[in-house]
Amino acid sequence: MFLRMLFHAARRTSSLRHFSAKPEFTADRYKVERGPYANISKDHLSFFSELLGQNRMITNADECEGYNIDFSKIVRGKSSVVLKPKTTDEVSSILKYCNENRLAVCPQSGNTGLVGGSVPVFDEIVISMKLMNKIIETNKLAGVLTCEAGCILEELDNHLATVNLMMPIDLGAKGSCLIGGCVSTNAGGIRLLRYGNLHGNVLGLEAVKANGEVVDCLNTLKKNNTGYHLKHLFIGSEGTLGIVTKVAIQCPPLPKAINVAFLGLNSFDKVLKAFQLAKNELGEILSSFEMMDRHALDVSVSYFGLKSPLTTYKDGHDFYVLMETSGSNVSHDEEKLSSFVEKAMADDVIEDGTLTSDPAKVKNIWTLRERISEGILREGYVFKYDMSIPLPSFYSVIEVLRDRLRDPRVLRISGYGHLGDGNIHVQVSLPKYEPEIAAKLEPFIFEYICSLRGSVSAEHGIGFTKTKYLHMSRTSSEIKLMRQLKEMMDPNGILNPYKVLHPRNVSG
Ligand SMILES: Cc1cc2nc3c(=O)[nH]c(=O)nc-3n(C[C@H](O)[C@H](O)[C@H](O)COP(=O)(O)OP(=O)(O)OC[C@H]3O[C@@H](n4cnc5c(N)ncnc54)[C@H](O)[C@@H]3O)c2cc1C
Repeated sequence: MFLRMLFHAARRTSSLRHFSAKPEFTADRYKVERGPYANISKDHLSFFSELLGQNRMITNADECEGYNIDFSKIVRGKSSVVLKPKTTDEVSSILKYCNENRLAVCPQSGNTGLVGGSVPVFDEIVISMKLMNKIIETNKLAGVLTCEAGCILEELDNHLATVNLMMPIDLGAKGSCLIGGCVSTNAGGIRLLRYGNLHGNVLGLEAVKANGEVVDCLNTLKKNNTGYHLKHLFIGSEGTLGIVTKVAIQCPPLPKAINVAFLGLNSFDKVLKAFQLAKNELGEILSSFEMMDRHALDVSVSYFGLKSPLTTYKDGHDFYVLMETSGSNVSHDEEKLSSFVEKAMADDVIEDGTLTSDPAKVKNIWTLRERISEGILREGYVFKYDMSIPLPSFYSVIEVLRDRLRDPRVLRISGYGHLGDGNIHVQVSLPKYEPEIAAKLEPFIFEYICSLRGSVSAEHGIGFTKTKYLHMSRTSSEIKLMRQLKEMMDPNGILNPYKVLHPRNVSG
């Protein structure tokens, strides 16, 4: 049954909450060897406390704990110092001092990263960017926002809405993640289909190198084709080449009309047909095309008591699709959506669906999708993978894993993700971490993805958990140049060690 209503306003807001127990220390679980870094001494602490004052240097073990454990509780570091700079100069002084004294650091923003990159492995000093949260300039005419790296993504979106603009990026962690964290991971999210990724949308940035030098490439022009485009070195390098302190980002106009369709489908083949049809019928107004299997949707329904908008939910569909259109003309967009729906029904592509532009209903539907990551943590330990896979084989990874992991300890194998971008999130949940299951999953899953010519990370990055598999998605010549860049920009290796590049040269 299809519902049709009027649209307005933004949809959801909420910072994330954590549930499961403390994980083992990363260094112990993964048997990591500590790098040749200095231990933190009283002299070091005196320097930091003089620079920042006692209030912006945390050394209390309980307070440090939150900075040592990641959102998914898969990694845990042992840092005993968290620093909270407020200015680029302070970041620069911290890094210069750390570099001279061979102290390793871990840049941290909202700590919502899903690959273990945002927390220390040993005792790296955490540099929390949360207090660098000023908006510097909003250029309404050009559609360009310039801000410090510690601004919360959702707050930026709310700010931009007041001048009829919006952020080109949106994701489930928007209430907690910071723009500098998003840029440093080149985060994708639910608007990428329409607005592209951050390599395109970030016009410029300011970053501090390991030796404290500030690199000012805070360009705000849309076109500036001069020399090397250095911003790209910092976008997606996960804090291993520098600390991002400011960002200039291009922001599209806030759409006047947003419609959401939630569809039930009975085979993955039909999901692909629906996507093809949506592209044909909706063209430029299609802004999201998200897929969830029944097991993924069930996480939000079971753990948060959320209700599916489909009256046939209890009978179950094997797949669900959440589609969003964003446009500037309500009747034009509705006409296009109606045409999509009529054709999809006539061709027997969708079994059931609901269509709405009512803000409350739009919010509820998106919440079903966005709380899957958080809800699955209630099951205990989650092996989570984020892969690009060519669409015809997109869902096969789930089927292959279900076949391979016939083990009573496995509670659920679920798949969902940004199908419109060819990006699936795979979740294997069990009550607690089991090394035998880990060994059955890895490297198998990455090898399988490679055999399909996919990528081991579509958007979450390499972080700590995937360093061994980087060579499966990058050539040895690329990895060689990455190592040379790292060596040049951070010769002492103090910036986020044990992340992105594996300490041993896996690719040979
Ligand atoms: C519920 C949920 C939904 C998510 N949905 C998506 C999604 O749809 N798409 C997607 O791509 N990701 C998604 N993510 C993961 C995503 O990577 C993060 O949410 C976000 O990009 C990280 O931002 P953050 O501020 O939390 O950074 P953090 O987690 O703190 O840091 C991430 C990495 O960047 C580094 N870093 C942080 N700040 C800086 C800085 N200023 N300079 C240099 N390095 C820095 C850290 O060292 C770390 O390696 C999701 C996460 C959650 C929990």
